[in-house]
Amino acid sequence: MTFKASVLTLYPDMFPGHLGQALAGRALERGDWSLDAVQIRDFALDKHRSVDDTPSGGGAGMVLKPDVLARAIDSIADDGRPRLLMSPRGRPLTQKRVRELAEGEGVVIVCGRFEGIDQRVIEARHLEEVSIGDYILSGGEPAALILLDAVVRILPGVMGNQLSGVHESFEGGLLEHPHYTRPQVFEGREIPAVLTSGNHAVIEAWRHDEALKLTAERRPDLLPKAKAGK
Ligand code: SAH
Repeated sequence: MTFKASVLTLYPDMFPGHLGQALAGRALERGDWSLDAVQIRDFALDKHRSVDDTPSGGGAGMVLKPDVLARAIDSIADDGRPRLLMSPRGRPLTQKRVRELAEGEGVVIVCGRFEGIDQRVIEARHLEEVSIGDYILSGGEPAALILLDAVVRILPGVMGNQLSGVHESFEGGLLEHPHYTRPQVFEGREIPAVLTSGNHAVIEAWRHDEALKLTAERRPDLLPKAKAGK
């Protein structure tokens, strides 16, 4: 099954961007997922093909016009895929939401620009606002690429070693334990002896312990959820 991503943007050349490289790029070539970047400006009907206008009520910047964006959205067949709007006002993206999206048939993603987009099209086209963090980007395109990166890497068959998806930070509710590889001694620092002991039960216990310590130190907010096994 091909996971279908359609992206509405004023900068279609930003796609597939880094997702044309490495594992995601090979998966795109194989057809494990598809990407269609739609130019919003193609749906502007006036002779200047304008996509934005001044904010009602005044203030700085410009606002993406609802009629133009609605036409762009309507050009994509409504096949039940979730329609997302990248937006700093959205619900913060989590690994849980990423997993849900990866289990579906695809996504339609609207990339905002300027001050944002007209509220009425958000409501009329039922756009789900998604944020990638508490900071402001100049446009939704890098945010869309980040969301798609997180989704594509867990699609069936995309990641070489499927198991490596299960132990990541957040998947078990905790941050991940530290990693080591050879050489045995690096600038006087040794690999923790337990990791070269060959005792897998002890190694698992050590890793869990390290993950707990790290999470308590850096992200104590994650601990209650991790304890509940969620
Ligand atoms: N005036 C808006 C910010 C506009 S930034 C506000 O204060 O909420 C321009 C566009 O960049 C947005 O429409 C959105 O699509 C994208 N964007 C900026 N920051 C983002 C973030 N943290 N997460 C997702 N998209 C973001």
